[in-house]
Amino acid sequence: MADELLQRLQRFREQTFPGIRTRFQDLVREGQHPTILFIGCSDSRLVPYMLTGTGPGELFIVRNVGAFVPPHDGSAGYHGTAAAIEFAVLNLNVAHIVVCGHSHCGGIRALYDGAPAQATNLAAWLELGREAVLPVQVSPEALRRTEQRAVVLQLERLMDYPMVRERVEANRLSLHGWHYVIEEGEVHVFDVRRGGFIPASQSEHSGTGPHLPIEDAMGALFNEIDDAFAPR
Ligand SMILES: [Zn+2]
Repeated sequence: MADELLQRLQRFREQTFPGIRTRFQDLVREGQHPTILFIGCSDSRLVPYMLTGTGPGELFIVRNVGAFVPPHDGSAGYHGTAAAIEFAVLNLNVAHIVVCGHSHCGGIRALYDGAPAQATNLAAWLELGREAVLPVQVSPEALRRTEQRAVVLQLERLMDYPMVRERVEANRLSLHGWHYVIEEGEVHVFDVRRGGFIPASQSEHSGTGPHLPIEDAMGALFNEIDDAFAPR
C-alpha cells in the first residue's frame, strides 16, 4: 500500500517549498514576529490561515478542543495553552489575541452529551466551557448560543492573565472573539458595544478592538442570551 503521508511530505519538499523558500529563510534569519495569537478549536474544518489570509510567520497558533483558555492560576495542572498565551504576549508581544470557536463544535456538543467513559482528560477539559451551557433542551440554536457564550467565557478568562489585562488596558493588545459558521464561510465577531456577535460582512471591526469595558459587555450578552431562553 502506498504511504500517502510520505508522498505528501515529498511533494511539499519538491513542489511547494521551492516557491516559498525565500520567505522561510527570511523567517529563520530574522526570527518570527507574528502579531496575532490565534486560539482555535482543533476541529479540522477550521482553517485559520484560510480564514485570515495569512501565511508562514503571521499567526502564532494554539488549538485545543473547544478553543478554551485554562485558568491562569495553574489550578488545572499542566497547560500548553496557558504557556502559549504567556509566550505570545511576553516574548512575541502580539497585538491581537483571537479566540475562535465555530458551528457544529463537537466539544460544545459534548458539554450536553458527555464524553466517552475512558476520556477522563477530555471530560475534565470540557469543564472550561461548562458555564456556557444553557439550561434548555439541546437544539441547533441552543448549541450556537452555547458556542458563542463559550467564546466570551474564554475572553473573560484571558483577562485574568495579568500580562493580558495590563496590555489590554494600555491599548497595546486587543482581544477578538470569533464564531466561525463553517457552512456559510462567515466569521461572526463579538461586538462589545452591541453585546453580541455580528457577521463580519456587516461589522465595522474584527472584534472588541481597543480596551473597552469588556466585563460589562459580556454581562449584557449573557443577559440577552438568558432572556432569549427564559421559560415563557
Ligand atoms: Zn470545535
